[in-house]
Amino acid sequence: MILQTLYQQCIKRGVRFFNEFYVLDLLLTDGRTAGVVAYDLATGELHVFRAKAVLFATGGYGRIFKITSNAHALTGDGLAVCYRRGFPLEDMEFFQFHPTGIYKMGILISEAVRGEGGILINNGGERFMERYAPTIKDLAPRDMVSRAIYQEIKEGRGIDKKDYVYLDVRHLDPHVIETKIPDVTEFARVYLGVEPTREPVPIQPTAHYGMGGIPTDTEARVVVGTEESSVPGLYAAGECACVSVHGANRLGTNSLLDIVVFGRRGGRDMARYASENELPSLAPRPETATLDELRELLRGPNLEFAADIRSELQRHMFDLCGVVRTEKGLLDLQRILAGLRERYRLIGVHDRGKVFNTELMEAVELGFLLDVSDAVVAAALTRDESRGGHYREDHPIRDDDRWLTHSLAYREDDGMVRMEYKSVKLGRYVPMERKY
Ligand SMILES: Cc1cc2nc3c(=O)[nH]c(=O)nc-3n(C[C@H](O)[C@H](O)[C@H](O)COP(=O)(O)OP(=O)(O)OC[C@H]3O[C@@H](n4cnc5c(N)ncnc54)[C@H](O)[C@@H]3O)c2cc1C
Repeated sequence: MILQTLYQQCIKRGVRFFNEFYVLDLLLTDGRTAGVVAYDLATGELHVFRAKAVLFATGGYGRIFKITSNAHALTGDGLAVCYRRGFPLEDMEFFQFHPTGIYKMGILISEAVRGEGGILINNGGERFMERYAPTIKDLAPRDMVSRAIYQEIKEGRGIDKKDYVYLDVRHLDPHVIETKIPDVTEFARVYLGVEPTREPVPIQPTAHYGMGGIPTDTEARVVVGTEESSVPGLYAAGECACVSVHGANRLGTNSLLDIVVFGRRGGRDMARYASENELPSLAPRPETATLDELRELLRGPNLEFAADIRSELQRHMFDLCGVVRTEKGLLDLQRILAGLRERYRLIGVHDRGKVFNTELMEAVELGFLLDVSDAVVAAALTRDESRGGHYREDHPIRDDDRWLTHSLAYREDDGMVRMEYKSVKLGRYVPMERKY
């Protein structure tokens, strides 16, 4: 409904769409936003869009993980473009894993299933959430349930000793299953060939929502540093942004609220900014750096395949920086990421065509995934406590004395990540640890 309304309003107001254009770079003139460079998938041409103001609304980055509910397009492009331009990424260690993704596919089975009485069981048929959250059991928050599933699997109680458990609705009235939770029936039948009225449904935690992103203020203006100075003309809203209304762990349904509120606020402020400022000048051929990068990928030595590197990246990110993290695992992961980056330099794009060269765009997106992963891992490594969507098995306690801070990850010229921290602004409510 949000999408439909937005689309109707755009049509009404004569908004021009550039479909299948990929934004690959942000243009700045003397620190002011001056436009973007975009690749037209249909023709293979690069276009320079001059602009007084730019708002990134490129969505999340769940594709850094092997199992995710996120669409293929959610490769963190907007975040990586800003990060490469020297802007920080905020709170990247906080990533929400939803407990009930369809096994191996990550497709989401909604919380409503447990809301209607669905339960989670392990290989012994035990309703294990009774042990982890005795009062609210299967209705515990996403991070708790995801960790409980992780623990069951780790202790050998996954189904057939594998990395999944069952979501069981067999005890529910079949009419309730058909009418109130059609996604479980549809998805289980279509994707798994499982009949949920008679068989339990294999599920595992799935990477769902990134709380981190491009730091913004409440007008969706991108802000930099601990002093939060805004970048003239640069905006971000939605999942690619971190205005931090979700803290370290978003509550279900609040993302759609976030996109509506901050999309509107950002749009309003952009209109004001555009009416008060001139169009910045641009250096000649501002698309050169992007063009060189694409040419390099097209001419690459062809010694590695982007698809192989991407699946290794996603697997290691899921295993070592997923639901549960440790210092050792994250340090190993940093070494793995460095190796994958080396291999990325050796890839080549086999399709040299100009029309709908999706192989080329996937290679570009792999570069974005690597950059975003670097920021996530560096932030997860330094935060030696557990909070919200970030759980460190070696530091399981929340530590407000040291860590009531937002992390900011910057990309250095040599590609390394530099971390900086800014205080959390406290309002009327004192943040408290959840207890169940
Ligand atoms: C299965 C699922 C169920 C969910 N359910 C809920 C829910 O019930 N309630 C809730 O509040 N939230 C829910 N969420 C989260 C919520 O849907 C997302 O956080 C929200 O849609 C993000 O909106 P967005 O506009 O920021 O990004 P998106 O809606 O993801 O849109 C980003 C767009 O940017 C485009 N894009 C990406 N890169 C580029 C580029 N380089 N150039 C040009 N375009 C680009 C993408 O193609 C995409 O069209 C759910 C998420 C998933 C995956």
